[in-house]
Amino acid sequence: MTKNISRKNFLQKTGSALAVASIGFPSIYIPKSKSSDRNKIGVALVGLGSYSTNQLAPGLQRTDHCELRGIVTGSPHKIPVWQEEHGIPDANVYNYENMHEIADNDDIDVVYIVLPTGLHAKYSIVGAEAGKNVWCEKPFAMDVAECQAVIDACESNRVQLTIGYRMQHEPNTQEIIRYGKEQTYGEITGVRTSAGYSGGGHPIGDWRRNPDLGGGALYDMGVYPLNAARYATGMEPIAARGIQSSQRPDIYKFVDETTEFELEFPGGVFAKGETSFGKSVNYLEVEATGGWYKLQPFQSYTRVRGETSDGRELPADPGHQQARQMDNDALALKENKDPIVPGEDGLADIRIVEAIMESSERGGEWIQL
Ligand code: NAD
Repeated sequence: MTKNISRKNFLQKTGSALAVASIGFPSIYIPKSKSSDRNKIGVALVGLGSYSTNQLAPGLQRTDHCELRGIVTGSPHKIPVWQEEHGIPDANVYNYENMHEIADNDDIDVVYIVLPTGLHAKYSIVGAEAGKNVWCEKPFAMDVAECQAVIDACESNRVQLTIGYRMQHEPNTQEIIRYGKEQTYGEITGVRTSAGYSGGGHPIGDWRRNPDLGGGALYDMGVYPLNAARYATGMEPIAARGIQSSQRPDIYKFVDETTEFELEFPGGVFAKGETSFGKSVNYLEVEATGGWYKLQPFQSYTRVRGETSDGRELPADPGHQQARQMDNDALALKENKDPIVPGEDGLADIRIVEAIMESSERGGEWIQL
């Protein structure tokens, strides 16, 4: 059974967002000898949840141009584990209340915000105002105003901002971006792209069920196909529409479990897709006047592979995606170049997310962008 959900109602019922836990910790750790390479960019991970633990920290052990030097966490029990594993000294351990003091720490060049989405803007701004470059996970933030506030804070503090859209660093993805730019298969006529995973659903208390913290499939997974439709076509959509629903309202009562969407690009090009917490889908298909090409899966950590209408194979790249992404972002800092994914790219997706949510509230009508 499909049940339409309304974030607005939920926000009215719950009032304000959850506060971040913040606790002071004793300082007793003496790091094991780990020679810090001063030619590398020093990264502090902000939020030590699943993605930091399982992807980013291992990635930072493989990077050539950056390394893990600090942590910001509200969970004291994680501190000794991370200090031991990564040789992080006491001086580079922060909580959410004293994170601004990172301004005085020359070991740290970058704060990488890996918190629930509803906290991205707040802590990106704390980092920028401390004079640190900001790497912020996707989705950029809750709405366009939050995204713009982060962009402004980074500009006024003269620090670089990049969004953690790892796919734009992935070789096969870069190849199909090139096909679009060079019209290798002619002019693009349409795109189909979806991202979702299935399973038992997120447990009670998980922020992905909470609209205040950026829960729901559209924010969490939907930004992958939205970003893909934009990078594949190289165009910005002029209108969007969508329908948000929940097939398991006992779990996804206040956020979307599934969102179907359609984007209209200039020249009558349409992109169509869906995102879901209840359906395993993962593809990007592009049709052009002279053929087609696709990536499937298109947004996995590994195995991203593709094929084309003229029989080209795009085999999976064996590299570590997050290591490549962070090395590219570190090189942009070292060489004073623009990052591959600037803040404006993340903001453009959030503008579409807002339009799709508005469209769903209006029964799926087109919203001009
Ligand atoms: P997670 O739930 O595993 O971790 C979130 C962390 O934030 C936890 O350590 C938690 O303690 C901390 N936290 C601080 N304040 C909190 C609060 N008020 N409520 C809840 N948690 C709080 O989530 P995750 O999967 O690591 O995702 C974190 C971010 O990384 C999200 O923005 C997500 O979209 C992004 N992410 C990106 C990718 C990618 O491939 N680029 C993959 C997974 C997650």
